[in-house]
Amino acid sequence: MEFLENSVRSYSRKGSVELITGSMFSGKTEELIRRLKRARIAGLKVEIFKPSVDKRYSETSVVSHDERSITSTPVEHAASILLLAEGCDVVGIDEAQFFDNSLVDVCNTLADQGKRVVVAGLDMDFLGRPFGPMPYLLSIAEYVTKVHAICTRCGNLAQYSWRKSAESKQVLLGEKDVYEPLCRSCYNKAMEKDIPDTGK
Ligand code: ZN
Repeated sequence: MEFLENSVRSYSRKGSVELITGSMFSGKTEELIRRLKRARIAGLKVEIFKPSVDKRYSETSVVSHDERSITSTPVEHAASILLLAEGCDVVGIDEAQFFDNSLVDVCNTLADQGKRVVVAGLDMDFLGRPFGPMPYLLSIAEYVTKVHAICTRCGNLAQYSWRKSAESKQVLLGEKDVYEPLCRSCYNKAMEKDIPDTGK
């Protein structure tokens, strides 16, 4: 059954973790922003956090590729979110894959306090490996929404973030000219032709 988010005020008192995950260009951040804006309309106190490693566009905004942005606070460690989210009803976390595994306990603690926690992050890195704390977040979340991009080579649903560049750091951030969303079949074909440099 599909999960449709509920923004009525009583919902927040129960506490829960929602995870939005998928590849580059799958609309994760857009979906995060959509849910948080609706929570604000419902009169809830909303705060958004992201790891300070993500400096692609701006220090203080969660910015999606279509530029519908929402202000956020960059934090160096997941533990800071516990302090900064005090008094919030809804806590948004973007680019969750860049935090370490302590984010899992942080999300559980926030939800146990009665907060609605909405987390967005990349499920896999460019080699198709589970990314950072994401597998654990998938396990503990009440609700998981997997979103897909469109394969730029065949038009099917894409789940892989193919790296066109030879850059090999896992934290290299997703710019349109570096990554290309591909389906399983096109990803495998691309891997056969051009194995990415893993830096090993
Ligand atoms: Zn394809």
